[in-house]
Amino acid sequence: MTQARRVVVIGAGFGGLALAIRLQSAGVRTILLEQRDRPGGRAYVYEQDGFRFDAGPTVVTAPNAIEELFALSGRAIGDYVEMLPVDPFYRLVWPDGVSLEYNADADAVSAAIARISPADADGYRRFLAFSEEVFREGYLKLGTVPFQDIWSMVRVAPQLIRLKSHRSVHSVVADFMRDPHLRQAFSFHSLLIGGNPFHVPSIYALIHALERRWGVFFPRGGTGALVAALARLFQDLGGEIRLNCPVEAIQAGHGTVTGVTLSGGNSLMADAVASNADVVHTYARLLAGTDRGRAMAARLNLGRYSSSLFVVHFGLKRQYPGLAHHTVLFGPRYRELLADIFERGVLAEDFSLYLHNPTASDTSLAPPGHAGFYALAPVPNLGKAPIDWTTMGPVYRDRILNALETQLMPGLRENLVTSRIFTPADFRSELNAHLGSAFSLEPVLTQSAWFRVHNRDDHIRNLYFVGAGTHPGAGIPGVVGSAKATAGLMLADMGVR
Ligand SMILES: Cc1cc2nc3c(=O)[nH]c(=O)nc-3n(C[C@H](O)[C@H](O)[C@H](O)COP(=O)(O)OP(=O)(O)OC[C@H]3O[C@@H](n4cnc5c(N)ncnc54)[C@H](O)[C@@H]3O)c2cc1C
Repeated sequence: MTQARRVVVIGAGFGGLALAIRLQSAGVRTILLEQRDRPGGRAYVYEQDGFRFDAGPTVVTAPNAIEELFALSGRAIGDYVEMLPVDPFYRLVWPDGVSLEYNADADAVSAAIARISPADADGYRRFLAFSEEVFREGYLKLGTVPFQDIWSMVRVAPQLIRLKSHRSVHSVVADFMRDPHLRQAFSFHSLLIGGNPFHVPSIYALIHALERRWGVFFPRGGTGALVAALARLFQDLGGEIRLNCPVEAIQAGHGTVTGVTLSGGNSLMADAVASNADVVHTYARLLAGTDRGRAMAARLNLGRYSSSLFVVHFGLKRQYPGLAHHTVLFGPRYRELLADIFERGVLAEDFSLYLHNPTASDTSLAPPGHAGFYALAPVPNLGKAPIDWTTMGPVYRDRILNALETQLMPGLRENLVTSRIFTPADFRSELNAHLGSAFSLEPVLTQSAWFRVHNRDDHIRNLYFVGAGTHPGAGIPGVVGSAKATAGLMLADMGVR
């Protein structure tokens, strides 16, 4: 293929932005089409009653993967956005009064673990060694490499077996630590990318090493400021972003795409198209009417989809000094609660919550003396539980706010000045997310690497994918990694590198 004149990227999530920056940095004219009025996708921003609320990601790990996007054109991330280190990484709290804070200081973490369960301090050290090995093999070597053919999978099979990938992350953590709190503390992370710790492969143990290697960060001004920085970088490079621009169809025929159809019927011709939109939406809707679209939609309909999330944003006319930036409030049940969410499709009475308290790092996100928060609870996706969220949403919001008030934030209700909710139904309607899943295909072994949607379609030679539904998967490091894998394929196919 000769050098493309023009590439279209559909969707301005972290994956779409990162891909667009890579292409534009390499001199390929790139147009980014986003259906909403702001870029960011899951990382959208709501401004309400003087509060700035990040809709989605708040725990920014692997900042180096983002810095690389600036370095491609000799720029520095610091000229666009300030990344603030967060310490502790998390505070974990259980209903029986046990709590654990952790950061990258292994001695301090071991000491905190010893206070909970002396026998497990040594197990933590051994877990750390395992986590670091998985990180080297799974993230550093394979995180940005596309798995386009079965042989790419066969080649890594011995490593995957050695790293016990056939076992779940929880079961491997349990080999190292006996205390149930600690087993939760070092296995819950996969929930942040939509996977049940009892099902996702042990490879997700790498998240702990990843957090330790580069730290946990929060952009000054919120995650939205990081999205804005990426959008500005792309535009500074000469890239074009069109907002409020939903793509209605990808024009495809004879194993090739020629462009996209925009709402209103206009066409935009392109030499290659990459979709950052939901993979089922892309095949079933944007490629409806093509054999390939129908075949892949049918295949993807048989897949397992990640959990959804219920998110409540709220603003208070007071602050809670001492509340950590990131708190996980575990519920009374763990395995059974996750079975309700992932298997049985039950919206349980109890929940585990993640609480975001950004004013701990940056007070500019709320009016003076105020603080804005969000709490999220993993909930079944709409395929598992077709709940009517219009009626259930306010009920569930009150349950969550009551639990926070009782367990963590006394006086919450009387200081409440604003709130909003985002439900599985919103993931479906606002983001075209299949079954309202928050993280696309569930990250189980049979849907990972070669088994995930390929970064380049197998039949349509100039159609590409980027984002949570492709390799390596959801989360900011995942989708930014997928952009590297996809850009590598695209630039090679276009003969640019
Ligand atoms: C509440 C929440 C909290 C999270 N917390 C964290 C965290 O702390 N740390 C972390 O690393 N990850 C976190 N994640 C996961 C992470 O946010 C996502 O995996 C990641 O942002 C997904 O990026 P993406 O590139 O796949 O695209 P998305 O963000 O899904 O964006 C896709 C874009 O495509 C657009 N689009 C869809 N269809 C069309 C169309 N037809 N035409 C034009 N545009 C279209 C959408 O509007 C959207 O903007 C969280 C996710 C959620 C929901």
